[in-house]
Amino acid sequence: MSDPAVPRDALRVVVDGGRYFEGPRWHGGNPYAPPVHDSTAIGPVPQAGCWRDGDAAVVLRPTADLPDRCVRCNQPVDGFRLEKKLYWHSPILYIAILVSPLVYVVIALILRKTVTVRFGLCPGHRARRRNGMLVGWLGTALAITTCSAGIASDTPEAIFGGMGLFLILPIVGIAMAHVIQPKKIEHHFAWLKVGKPFLESLEAARSP
Ligand SMILES: [Zn+2]
Repeated sequence: MSDPAVPRDALRVVVDGGRYFEGPRWHGGNPYAPPVHDSTAIGPVPQAGCWRDGDAAVVLRPTADLPDRCVRCNQPVDGFRLEKKLYWHSPILYIAILVSPLVYVVIALILRKTVTVRFGLCPGHRARRRNGMLVGWLGTALAITTCSAGIASDTPEAIFGGMGLFLILPIVGIAMAHVIQPKKIEHHFAWLKVGKPFLESLEAARSP
């Protein structure tokens, strides 16, 4: 049941026994409203500070320790953790590329938001991530070598072959190596893209 006084996209997190904490978009979007991030008001949040909001896992900033399970397949990881700093900025900043790529880079560096996440990864997904990094780096090296050899020997097939490798292998490698990505980062929270089994194991944020 929805409360008409609450903006539809307001994040509401249930804490012990029905008290709840409203996210940063509470107050009907009034940017001048006082912040409601007093940590004593938040209390223990579900799943040790990690819960589900639609298709994303939500964690508290600036650092978050995810449950002791693989962030892709939800298998137990017995304490193994990887630490990664994730960056995100509003997609609207891409408009600055139209002005100048350099202007975009400067603005993005200033306005980007970060979250440091410690997450579990099972041996299988660790291997896949490592292989992805290898494919990315070796693929890039192979593409450059093939292209250079083609230019040196004046062989168009090798040049185009190298360019093709350069387009495909790094992208395949990056796709294999990515295990957790930011969907959105705001002042108090970060929304993360994770594996479906892990996501479905999390408790959903719900209205009291
Ligand atoms: Zn796994």
